[in-house]
Amino acid sequence: MHELRKDPLLSRWTVILERSLKPSEYPPAAALQGSPEAAGAFSFSVIEQGQNGVKVIKGRPLLAGEGELGRKGEGIYDKMNPIGTHEIVLEAAEGREGRQEPAGLDSRQFKAVLDVYLKRFRALLQDPRIRYVFIFKDKGLFSPAPLAARKEKDKTVPPGPYSEILATAVIPDFVKRELDGAKHYYEYKERCIFCDIVNEEKKVGSRVLAETGHFLAFCPYAPRVPFEFWIAPKRHSCAFEEASAQEIEDLAGLLPELTGRMSRALGGPAYNYCIHTAPNRIPRKNLWHTLGDDYHWHIEVLPRLQRMSALDLGAGFHLITTSPEDAARYMREA
Ligand SMILES: [Zn+2]
Ligand SMILES: [Zn+2]
Repeated sequence: MHELRKDPLLSRWTVILERSLKPSEYPPAAALQGSPEAAGAFSFSVIEQGQNGVKVIKGRPLLAGEGELGRKGEGIYDKMNPIGTHEIVLEAAEGREGRQEPAGLDSRQFKAVLDVYLKRFRALLQDPRIRYVFIFKDKGLFSPAPLAARKEKDKTVPPGPYSEILATAVIPDFVKRELDGAKHYYEYKERCIFCDIVNEEKKVGSRVLAETGHFLAFCPYAPRVPFEFWIAPKRHSCAFEEASAQEIEDLAGLLPELTGRMSRALGGPAYNYCIHTAPNRIPRKNLWHTLGDDYHWHIEVLPRLQRMSALDLGAGFHLITTSPEDAARYMREA
């Protein structure tokens, strides 16, 4: 029988089909990927220079306003100025873009990327207008950011592998729902839901992809897309920027290894990853007083094997064509 599974954090429902599709039954990766845009002259304004050629440059003027927040009502609607910054992390020295596939950056290179993520995080959170710093990667997809910048002649897609850092004066909806879900669970059980999930996944084992000294990687019980996986630190901590040097070292090996396994299992699909972490706790301290106990930072990786359907977008109801248990097995074996 098919199964209807509930995500314990967001109370969202997922249908897991009785018979899982094999990786080879999905459309070829190229069918869903955007045609690569010319890597042209990008206006390099370097914000941070990392190790091994890793650089942070100024991004699009998207959500990158200066000045006051300017919160206003417009009839029944709310609006505000798009205060924030958009930065682009160039993950490899120029001319090394070929290193991205299939196994991703090597651990030394990815460590340099994580180091600049941390530096930028710590710097951006000093601004009390900034409520959230969102770090993400769109690999092989049409990212809306380059489209939004199309009119500006000299800014196209950056050369080589890159990820993005968006600092905003609002908390993204998905993160807000996670924060609320975690807080609610904590009020009820006085335990962190993510610590509970990590312990449960370790106990069950069938959805675990890898365990290292500091992290557990697993396919979530009720995923949003087939082959989705999460990486969570085993030590309870609400904020990525509080990760220890040993944790960063460990993660630098683990994430490229797992994206490499995913790529081998699925023929190099487009994917996203993002870091879910605590919002800026400097403004609105009272609202977040249990956050240190109830929230737990983590990374989510979502391969894009299918297009979103009306079920996903219209109902938030996901049809999962390869069970997370089978997905974990395919990726462990890849
Ligand atoms: Zn926890
Ligand atoms: Zn999350």
